[in-house]
Amino acid sequence: MSLITKAIKGTQDTLPENSGELRFVESTLADIARNYGFREIRTPVFEHTELFDRSVGDTTDVVQKEMYTFNDKGGRSITLRPEGTAGAVRAFLEHGLFNEPSPYKVFYQTSCYRYEKPQAGRLREFHQFGVECFGTGDASEDAEIIALADEIFSFLGVKGLELRLNSIGCPECRKDYQKALYDYFKSHEDELCETCQDRLERNPMRILDCKGESSELLDNAPVVLDYLCDDCKEHFEKVQKYLKAMDISYTIDPRIVRGLDYYTKTVFEFVSTDIGAQATVCGGGRYDGLCSELGGKDIPALGFGMGMERLMLTLAAQGVELPKEQPPELYIATAGEAASLKAAAIVHNLRAQGVYCLTDTVGRSIKAQMKFANKVHADFVAVIGVNELNSGTVNLKYMPTGEQQVITLQQLEDEFDSIAIQKSVANLTDSMDAEDLKGVDLSGIIRGNMGGNH
Ligand code: ATP
Ligand code: MG
Repeated sequence: MSLITKAIKGTQDTLPENSGELRFVESTLADIARNYGFREIRTPVFEHTELFDRSVGDTTDVVQKEMYTFNDKGGRSITLRPEGTAGAVRAFLEHGLFNEPSPYKVFYQTSCYRYEKPQAGRLREFHQFGVECFGTGDASEDAEIIALADEIFSFLGVKGLELRLNSIGCPECRKDYQKALYDYFKSHEDELCETCQDRLERNPMRILDCKGESSELLDNAPVVLDYLCDDCKEHFEKVQKYLKAMDISYTIDPRIVRGLDYYTKTVFEFVSTDIGAQATVCGGGRYDGLCSELGGKDIPALGFGMGMERLMLTLAAQGVELPKEQPPELYIATAGEAASLKAAAIVHNLRAQGVYCLTDTVGRSIKAQMKFANKVHADFVAVIGVNELNSGTVNLKYMPTGEQQVITLQQLEDEFDSIAIQKSVANLTDSMDAEDLKGVDLSGIIRGNMGGNH
């Protein structure tokens, strides 16, 4: 295949056959986030490189190895966002959103770019659903965002994700920990990879997050929880108290330090056992120092990022059925130009009523049109030819059962919508007991069943 018709390594297309499921998941996530007080923010796909150097941290894998950085034609260093938090924080500060009622909560669904080795669950262009909350240092909010992620998974029917929780303390208590880590890794310096030998001097905690080091070396390293100051210890206990109050189970995993520099206190991951090595579906935590690090006020903040591709992989691996895109409700086949003109007017009118309907725009034979209607699984089919134009009536066929009814062309245009609704109610009630239907609000069911168009 020539280069021109091949997507860049580590990128992928979402085709229409899958986009319906993805759109369902995206809108579900947005709805759930809204219930927790998060509103959508959209920020540019590229930012000044310095923003990521400063916020993600220049000793991280992301900044050292993975960023898509280039000079634009004006000679500025630009980077495609490798994650969503930095842009959200930049926008929060730039627009003075700290003057709004606090806490200020945003969510986003964006593409991210990292130059990594592509494999299952690891892409160079991937998508994050993320939330950020500004303006509270209280542990109850840490528990709330964890509850939000947890609710997303349970609403979608994802089972068996493990919530792993840790605290990495504040800059104060981290000093002693960094020292202990430094001493430990210094005595194993010859075992460290080249990048980590450099990190040893600059930020030994980053070594814990390196995928190149042996797990034995990392497992025996000092544990951050042993070094927490009283304030951080209390905060961590309070997070757990709130999680218990909401009946959210977790395990404490002192190995979690998260890949980005800006985290303080609470860090957490939701890990899947179903999708192989790239198992972290969602990761997040508190980043109390970031706003001031970027030159803003000292505002506590926290958030998480959820990998959409890994979420979709987990759903697929667990066989979770998501609603498919609805098929067309009606296909009008036509013979001859006069019929085609009539059909064009009818579908134009029906679409204005919110009906998903199609007619031939290729000039195919009736037989080929019927074949097409079958392939796209149209619910109803009507054929308009000279006879129908003369009589002003048409045969409307309900494809799943083959039932037919003769109606006028005017009825097709004015009443198809309610005919389709009646049919779908009849189908539903057939499959339910009369007893089950007592007191049920059918209008809601019908709307759901008909793809929300009515
Ligand atoms: P990993 O340890 O897998 O490299 P990370 O610590 O680099 O993850 P974060 O920066 O915390 O990941 O990003 C949040 C989430 O975004 C991850 O938990 C994951 O679900 C997703 N993610 C990160 N990098 C990629 C990638 N290259 N491809 C697909 N999803 C990714
Ligand atoms: Mg990574």
